[in-house]
Amino acid sequence: MNDLNSVLLPEMLDIWQDTLNWQPSNAQQALFQRLYELVLVGNQKLNLTRITEVNDFWEKHLWDSIRGFKVCLEGLSKMTSSPSSLSMIDIGTGAGFPGIPAAIVIPYSQVDLLDSTQKKLTFIDQVIGELKLDNVKTVIGRAEEVGQLRSFRQQYNVALIRAVASATVCAEYSLPLLKKGGLAIIYRGTWTDEENSALENAISGLGGKIECIDKFETPLTNSTRHCLHVRKIAHTPAEYPRAIGIPTQYPL
Ligand code: SAM
Repeated sequence: MNDLNSVLLPEMLDIWQDTLNWQPSNAQQALFQRLYELVLVGNQKLNLTRITEVNDFWEKHLWDSIRGFKVCLEGLSKMTSSPSSLSMIDIGTGAGFPGIPAAIVIPYSQVDLLDSTQKKLTFIDQVIGELKLDNVKTVIGRAEEVGQLRSFRQQYNVALIRAVASATVCAEYSLPLLKKGGLAIIYRGTWTDEENSALENAISGLGGKIECIDKFETPLTNSTRHCLHVRKIAHTPAEYPRAIGIPTQYPL
């Protein structure tokens, strides 16, 4: 078993401050700690994540998740008339990343965690209960199907999507779910000019536009990351997302 207290170490507080000009409150830290414990326990039965060593968990799950949306938090909070109506969806949430950290850091948001694997969502439902997060719920389904349902399509201000598919596929999954003016944050490791051109081509037909490529380094291992900010500037045609499996088989 890993050292369960380390996500609370004071030096991590300094890194939050230095890198994001922000520190979690004591209550938020306690939630991160409990989340870590629950993921470790859940991992004994389910294949939730390979990132279990404490520093890895802190950097690659907590810090990385939060870094992705934190830089545009001010803009996000202005997207709705009342802050409490900021709606977010985490597509392919897995063990709850980046959606659970988002719900903890932005308590006024309403966060839906979408995944196609029921076992993972059963685990997340337990986490939501244990952490008493009343601004999160799970949604079972494939992004290709959920994006065509009236109750989900065009319903969100923000879509987060990390480690699910290529960027063009992520765009096809996320843009139909966004309201016009909404923002998709697509988390990537490396990012090339070729990928950028492919994404630009793909999103022009989905009603999206690349707003910025946010490049950064992780604070412990100095790994390069990119978050692609794709703004929904126009209606997404009804044919998208295409049927299950088609986006990955025939990327736009
Ligand atoms: N986002 C998490 C993270 O960064 O740690 C989990 C990433 S995991 C590698 C990918 C997850 O996406 C899996 O849990 C899988 O079930 C889910 N997934 C893949 N394709 C999907 C789809 N089309 N619709 C919904 N979920 C999907």
